[in-house]
Amino acid sequence: MTTMTTMTTMTTMTTMTTMLLRGLLLSMLFAAACGDGATAAPDAAPAAPDAAALRDLLVEAALDGNGLSTEVAFVVPSRTRSLTIVAEGDEAALLALGSLVLADGTDRVDLDLNRSWAAEMTASYHDEQIGQMPGSLYQSIRLGTFTQVYPTAPGQALPAGPASLRIASTATNGNVTVRLLLPDEDEARTLAVNLVAVSDQFSFSGRPPFVDVMQTIFDQAGIAVVVRESSVLADSGLERISTFSEPQEAPDSQAAELAGLGPQNGALNIFVVEGLPSGVGGLSLGTPGPPVQDSSYFGVLLLHSTSDALLGRVMAHEVAHFLALQHVTNRGVSGMSYADPLADTEPGQGNLMENGTTLTPDQAYALSRSALLTLP
Ligand SMILES: [Zn+2]
Repeated sequence: MTTMTTMTTMTTMTTMTTMLLRGLLLSMLFAAACGDGATAAPDAAPAAPDAAALRDLLVEAALDGNGLSTEVAFVVPSRTRSLTIVAEGDEAALLALGSLVLADGTDRVDLDLNRSWAAEMTASYHDEQIGQMPGSLYQSIRLGTFTQVYPTAPGQALPAGPASLRIASTATNGNVTVRLLLPDEDEARTLAVNLVAVSDQFSFSGRPPFVDVMQTIFDQAGIAVVVRESSVLADSGLERISTFSEPQEAPDSQAAELAGLGPQNGALNIFVVEGLPSGVGGLSLGTPGPPVQDSSYFGVLLLHSTSDALLGRVMAHEVAHFLALQHVTNRGVSGMSYADPLADTEPGQGNLMENGTTLTPDQAYALSRSALLTLP
């Protein structure tokens, strides 16, 4: 995670890319230099002591005329908690995975790669306003920055070994940057958050009671929530968020603008604002969001409330979105209902991802895969 620390001082994607690639190159040189005496081929799998160097990669890929990227090859180290894919490209373009072939040779997405998927992506995102990618893997199509965490449910194997993926986009012939996070399966179950009061009317210190309300809910997933830092963001002009976009926040949204102003200490930013659009208690900048602190999709927004029970529940709901979870069901513009990808969630059971507080075992598992979780 040293790369993350380095990134805090980076301001542009270009610089970040250069630095990360340089870091990766150094890591690869180190891997070769520290091998067990054998001559390492450039694409040889690293020896175990150097596996950590390959748990955070940044790769550029080029899109073809169908909007499908060149193949991004990587290695899943043994003992890997999850694979998080963050693809960044043109802000006006939709992104998702075209393929994800793991070491067992099976493509989890299973789409025809000899054609464009732009029409289906556009229809689901902009027309139906659901944003679900066709194929076998549940994916949330996204504008500008796409995030996928795998596995999303129990029983989805992430075998160690060589793997590859391709990005699918509505853009053609441009480039996408693909960040891959492959954290160790170290039983990390601590989520650090920053509380940002976007107001001169209120502020936070210590561990406010609403965090304890959220903790009670996250206890069901065995996740401990710690407050790393509390701060005030005054005079941002974003105290009252007046718009939101469906199905997810867009790169030019007020929410994304606010997220770009957050602290960068690795903890997930929780922005508490004075106003959200009517009927909205909170917004997550992704389902899931990118666990990458310099992304303008890094964080969740909450409407300030004097009710700790309300604020704590909404915080749990939005953070659960950001880490992994969908609503139990979503309704599209057509009126059609779309279920989440989990087998044990049922509507009307008081679930956190409806209007309740309970989590199912599958939801707890999905949350526990997040790359944001750390050891205490
Ligand atoms: Zn929600």
